[in-house]
Amino acid sequence: MDSLDNEKNEKAREAPSNFIKVIIEEDLKLGRNDSRVHTRFPPEPNGYLHIGHAKSICLNFGLASEYNGLCNLRFDDTNPIKEESEYVESIIEDIRWLGFDWGDRLFYASDYFDTLYKYAVKLINDGKAYVDDLSADQIRQYRGTLTEPGQESPFRNRSAGENLDLFQRMKSGEFENGAKVLRARIDMSHGNLNMRDPVLYRILKAPHHRTGDKWCIYPMYDWAHGQSDSIERITHSLCTLEFEDHRPLYEWFVQNLGIYVPRQIEFARLNLTYTVMSKRRLLQLVKESYVKGWDDPRMPTLSGLRRRGFTPVSIRNFAERVGIAKRDSTVDYALLEHAVREDLNKHAQRVMAVLKPLKVVIENYPEGQTEQLDCVNNPENPDAGSRKVPFSKVIYIERDDFMEDPPKKFFRLAPGREVRLRYAYFITCTDVIKDENGQITELRCTYDPATRGGDAPDGRKVRATMHWVSAEHSLRAEVRLYDHLFRKEDPDDVEEGKTWLDNLNHGSLEILDDCRIEPYAADSKPGDRFQFERQGYFCIDPDTAPGHLVFNRTVGLRDSWAKIAKQG
Ligand code: ATP
Ligand code: MG
Repeated sequence: MDSLDNEKNEKAREAPSNFIKVIIEEDLKLGRNDSRVHTRFPPEPNGYLHIGHAKSICLNFGLASEYNGLCNLRFDDTNPIKEESEYVESIIEDIRWLGFDWGDRLFYASDYFDTLYKYAVKLINDGKAYVDDLSADQIRQYRGTLTEPGQESPFRNRSAGENLDLFQRMKSGEFENGAKVLRARIDMSHGNLNMRDPVLYRILKAPHHRTGDKWCIYPMYDWAHGQSDSIERITHSLCTLEFEDHRPLYEWFVQNLGIYVPRQIEFARLNLTYTVMSKRRLLQLVKESYVKGWDDPRMPTLSGLRRRGFTPVSIRNFAERVGIAKRDSTVDYALLEHAVREDLNKHAQRVMAVLKPLKVVIENYPEGQTEQLDCVNNPENPDAGSRKVPFSKVIYIERDDFMEDPPKKFFRLAPGREVRLRYAYFITCTDVIKDENGQITELRCTYDPATRGGDAPDGRKVRATMHWVSAEHSLRAEVRLYDHLFRKEDPDDVEEGKTWLDNLNHGSLEILDDCRIEPYAADSKPGDRFQFERQGYFCIDPDTAPGHLVFNRTVGLRDSWAKIAKQG
């Protein structure tokens, strides 16, 4: 944890300011909240976390660490119908993986159900809440619109005693789902619709993943959220922009209850091109098998990105770079790829792997001989050293690195042409062998023994350097290549009658099942990361089994973000 803490502090000192930091620094200067900074990350356990949540996690935990404060993890588990412990567990795992720690401050809104109930009783006693018998539809009709005031419910003026009695009977299960609700008594003609007597409790006869059958009334999000913040003495309650209109209600509740008043601050949510971010949609992709699961490497979930090979550092750096704004925007997916490339470039072990093998026999190489050639592990990191890679008479090269009849700009192997095999020798193609269908099955080459290590003593040049593996020594591997999950930058960009699902990219997964990799990778474990020379960054997938290596391509080598940034 030490090095991570150091890294975090380092980050914080360098981190650019944003409007939330300005607010916090002002509060600290004025000695507000006893000069404490206390944030929270409040996920609803109704799905797996995605990259948008990562932005919020990095923001909340990042601010706490930067200002020597605390950040709580609180599950907003007020809806028993959609919530499950599987989600709770995955959320905990994902936040830990990102590198954040909430100490002993793991809370659940459901921990506060008793307190919230008492708060509701207080509002009833103060004449500020009432039990309403209107149906959900009627409540909607009575609510009015932005231009028209709402209408008061005929049940609005029940006495405190009657309300208290009805609310207790709601709690004890006397009424059916939807028969009654508890509402705040605020103002049915308020300019902000959220203030028009919002619902605090609904009857929901459903067991809860933590409280079991204890409750059959459940608090609404707005009623639970601010009060939970207050109970935890959160100083700065950060949420996304859609809650801006809820802020007056947030404040009305805590002020009218006379409890600690946290400050709600809204920021823009993260959107990414070529993907969707709403949990409802991600759940649909999983449920309807458009992907293999929440951790499918094409998903924008943290578990998907982890399986794809993304590192925690790369995601934290991405969140930092995206920054915090007051206006919604969409970030280019290429920026996320840039962040992981930057990190992996520094740390990933280089290996040679051939994705689409073409057999090459080196005719003048001694039969049965094997040489161990020195290959650099990571040119970006001198401490990474080198490794021995076996070379022999029969090797594989990339099918795409040979053309029988090459166009002008193709400089790789062709009949009669000499190229360099990385870290090995110069070879010259002397013959092309084909099967009865005219398909190339194998090449014959000669090598120049004087070029060992990849340099010609006579100074002659070749125009291409290619990767290779020794046929006999290489390991077979399955490699999964991924493309964007959607064909369009904005999956909602659809013609009439079509939906976002029509924009799914059906070519987003390509499986290559006959790849060859140098023996270095033999003992790799799920999560191990490599750069395949000239191909990109890859990591071992959990589907790997003894004798069956499976790799995911995290990202290719070409950095389209660097290009975009240059043009801009
Ligand atoms: P979704 O719309 O994906 O279902 P949500 O807002 O309902 O997301 P929550 O579990 O309630 O999901 O979110 C937990 C926290 O993460 C909230 O504070 C929310 O504002 C924040 N958050 C969710 N999505 C994003 C996003 N795309 N960018 C930044 N923060 C986000
Ligand atoms: Mg939410």
